[in-house]
Amino acid sequence: MAAAPALKHWRTTLERVEKFVSPLYFTDCNLRGRLFGDSCPVAELSSFLTPERLPYQEAVQQDFRPAQVGDSFGPTWWTCWFRVELTIPEAWVGQEVHLRWESDGEGLVWRDGEPVQGLTKEGEKTSYILTDKLGEKDPRSLTLYVEVACNGLLGAGKGSMIAAPDPEKMFQVSRAELAVFHRDVYKLLVDLELLLGIAKGLGEDNQRSFQALYTANQMVNVCDPAQPETFPVAQALASKFFGQRWGESQHTIHAMGHCHIDTAWLWPFKETVRKCARSWVTVVQLMERNPEFIFACSQAQQLEWVRSHYPGLHARLQEFACRGQFVPVGGTWVEMDGNLPSGESMVRQFLQGQNFFRQEFGKMCSEFWLPDTFGYSAQLPQIMRSCGIKRFLTQKLSWNLVNSFPHHTFFWEGLDGSQVLAHFPPGDSYGMQGSVEEVLKTVAKNRDKGRTNHSAFLFGFGDGGGGPTQTMVDRLKRLCNTDGLPRVQLSSPERLFSALEGHSGQLCTWVGELFLELHNGTYTTHAQIKKGNRECERILHDVELLSSLALARSTQFLYPAALLQDLWRLLLLNQFHDVVTGSCIQLVAEEAMCHYEDIRSHGNTLLSAAAAALCAGEPGPEGLLIVNTLPWKRTEVLALPRPGGAHCLGMSWGEKFLPSPGHRPRHGLCSCPHPHLTAAPAAPAACVCSARAPADLASRPPPTKTDGSVTLDNGIIRVRLDPTGRLTSLVLVASGREAIAEGTVGNQFVLFDDVPLYWDAWDVMDYHLETRKPVLGQAGTLAVGTEGGVRGSAWFLLQISPNSRLSQEVVLDVGCPYVRFHTEVHWHEAHKFLKVEFPARVRSPQATYEVQFGHLQRPTHYNTSWDWARFEVWAHRWMDLSEHGFGLALLNDCKYGASVRGNVLSLSLLRAPKSPDATVDMGRHEFTYALMPHKGSFQDAGVIPAAYSLNFPLLALPAPGPAPAAAWSAFSVSSPAVVLETVKQAETSPQGRTLLLRLYEAHGSHSDCWLHTSLPVQEAVLCDLLERRDPTGPLLLRDNRLKLTFAPFQVQSLLLLLQPPPN
Ligand SMILES: [Zn+2]
Repeated sequence: MAAAPALKHWRTTLERVEKFVSPLYFTDCNLRGRLFGDSCPVAELSSFLTPERLPYQEAVQQDFRPAQVGDSFGPTWWTCWFRVELTIPEAWVGQEVHLRWESDGEGLVWRDGEPVQGLTKEGEKTSYILTDKLGEKDPRSLTLYVEVACNGLLGAGKGSMIAAPDPEKMFQVSRAELAVFHRDVYKLLVDLELLLGIAKGLGEDNQRSFQALYTANQMVNVCDPAQPETFPVAQALASKFFGQRWGESQHTIHAMGHCHIDTAWLWPFKETVRKCARSWVTVVQLMERNPEFIFACSQAQQLEWVRSHYPGLHARLQEFACRGQFVPVGGTWVEMDGNLPSGESMVRQFLQGQNFFRQEFGKMCSEFWLPDTFGYSAQLPQIMRSCGIKRFLTQKLSWNLVNSFPHHTFFWEGLDGSQVLAHFPPGDSYGMQGSVEEVLKTVAKNRDKGRTNHSAFLFGFGDGGGGPTQTMVDRLKRLCNTDGLPRVQLSSPERLFSALEGHSGQLCTWVGELFLELHNGTYTTHAQIKKGNRECERILHDVELLSSLALARSTQFLYPAALLQDLWRLLLLNQFHDVVTGSCIQLVAEEAMCHYEDIRSHGNTLLSAAAAALCAGEPGPEGLLIVNTLPWKRTEVLALPRPGGAHCLGMSWGEKFLPSPGHRPRHGLCSCPHPHLTAAPAAPAACVCSARAPADLASRPPPTKTDGSVTLDNGIIRVRLDPTGRLTSLVLVASGREAIAEGTVGNQFVLFDDVPLYWDAWDVMDYHLETRKPVLGQAGTLAVGTEGGVRGSAWFLLQISPNSRLSQEVVLDVGCPYVRFHTEVHWHEAHKFLKVEFPARVRSPQATYEVQFGHLQRPTHYNTSWDWARFEVWAHRWMDLSEHGFGLALLNDCKYGASVRGNVLSLSLLRAPKSPDATVDMGRHEFTYALMPHKGSFQDAGVIPAAYSLNFPLLALPAPGPAPAAAWSAFSVSSPAVVLETVKQAETSPQGRTLLLRLYEAHGSHSDCWLHTSLPVQEAVLCDLLERRDPTGPLLLRDNRLKLTFAPFQVQSLLLLLQPPPN
């Protein structure tokens, strides 16, 4: 092959080729130096600077001032609009001409009022093709606008990527010129770089590697950069090499364009709107130029933003979706966190997402797409399946710190046994660039060699880098089938998964959650966001339930479907994997808090509206409407508002606030004309009842105080607090069973040093456990609060550190099986972690944690590396440690981080990371946790309803009109194992008179149950989570009840068609 020296030195030959394509060395004579030919400055440059993100039409009418290359602009989060007037020299006729633009920040080119391409240095997008070939008659003068956002691809961190943004950062434009582009040089550069990649990637033990290197060397020999007529010979050498094929057994790589855009992270939501436009308009250009190029795009919310802000671009995306080049994936509203959102929230992610995709792109997504989320709930397979999705793609588990996950392609089996086909791109990335190294890694790292012969390869810069580049596409096209390398296809998710499904017979199965052994601090960081999330999930639950009841009972009531959809979408947006996790900058957190406030205020208005509708038209006293939004009977003390803003304690005793053990409705309402100190068990599953004068109160003895300690006793449990507020004893009165381990104390606050390796807001490391310091209080701080009546309480202050303090009210109510700890913390720390511990007099190798629509067990020991890597885990409303016949449950109203090691239950309360938000979690916090000792299993003891009660307090709504005279209940379920989780109006229903009910089996058992309703139901039919009717047809409905059969942790949805209104 080679004419010159017979002997070639590996290193010098390799470096010779490298220098030939180098952008740094010898550009005066090498090939790279010839990529661009003649150049000339733009005719005129002017700019306009604004702190706002203006629409194009508004921006271009502003006052533009002369500008020049080298100018600085800023600061961070501002926008600089450049008007670029250019004239292409006549001499360039026949040539390809580019606008070369280099500036800090992220740019978007506008031409004739439409966005046409993104410009980002970090995304290797620094030139815009003005014309492929300048024609003699083409206009040579035009005006473009470049909208430059004053933030980098990854925000504007001061000094480090995840540091808080630098508000003073300035930006600079360093190049704005026209240049002739030499396409033939470019092609040779792509080939030479690939040949170098093959030589390096396959190494000196491999024959093909030498062939690649010698081919490249020979290309350098024959190619004179100054003489384009020499290029075809070099090109032919490359084509010969890449045209050499090999056998059929080779692995196939499915290369798909992608651009992972974090919906908010190191930049605010509003900037993401523009990131989407910049990225996708660039993708449109690539799809136009490369008909075989396919781009996978997730997150309905981002597409919705583009639809409303850039309708022209949206129409183009729809066009390319029809052609199959633009492929919506994921099916969810955003790429949400996979751990923290409730089960219902996860359902809504899919419901809102799939409906949007169907509406805007004509079909729903077939793949769940969550490449960058910090762990995956074991309920996801069931939720996916019931949302029309059997395929799942992620890669985040490659970030595991301790154990490497054993598969890249496998069946993932969820809590209920549902299976989906899961694929992790073996290259462990969602931002590949099409290099030979990545292609080889994809094959080498595949953990399922021999089982499957296909892999995904996602290429493109994310987060505003504009996604893939033409160079990436060209590289991958060149590698389609060449000896020595895997086959590469520009492919689609559909083709990849079909290929995997075709050979799934040998795949292994992974059962249970996909736990990420990293980022475990995200269960706790930014407590206010977490609290907002939990609270808004409750509000929307209550609003939907009450509005549904109002719809069923009042002919006048209009279900607020549109507003509820907006509020849900707002909540779902903030479940994005860098928002609810607390790993965002302060700007985003502030926006999230505003969103939660919106949901709260609208939610409260909607609750009042529904209450008003429920009260209308029925005789009865005016006053308060007491509403139980849970599907079971409740006997609870509640605070009733009194004139003047004061409250008094009341107790719900079923309907009418009278003790009435026989008939207590579920999901019901009651009205309360004369708020009083009264006890009341409210009717379940949304019960409405009216409160009358106080009944015979089952009050308990007041807390007793001896030697500075306080004992609270309600006849069910007896709580003893030491003089500093720690729990020295917790006894289940009936059995005399002690729940606190001998010689220990519970309610022990502990402080840890919390300095991770890098990802500050994200990570808590195993070694933090070695820095445990109990926070010791001062004796004598414990005081009795409420005494006697239906509630007893004690409170104390605790100095956590010189800067942080805590106060707590420990509350025990009549009839309540758990003791509550209302906690207020003033938190001013740096890199500390606050938890509270309860050593239990319980021994078990595993603890139970609530997850979406169910629960799962995790070990309490550190036997294996898989066990100890779960030193900090997540849970929803409760966790439990039980041995045979007895256990202790720890409930919470807004926390997610937890652990049980040995017999110690620990709830994670507050962290103090400083990046990317230096102010995160500083200030005042309020939260409640509760402790419930129980006999028997947690299922039989009612831990699950107790945790619901803590999270869904009885509502006492002002009744504007006459409230229903008698309490009534809309729904009840006969089995304690089955929870009626959601009642809402069905998405599509004739005249709006169809309700959707969602129930799940919560005990982990096969259960039959009867669902009873007092509503006028005409027809009942099962449906999936997208509310599509089950083909088996209507259920048998007799005497207002119907039978349902559940498998463990099964979620079932039901459509109830209501009878038309009487008139
Ligand atoms: Zn992400």
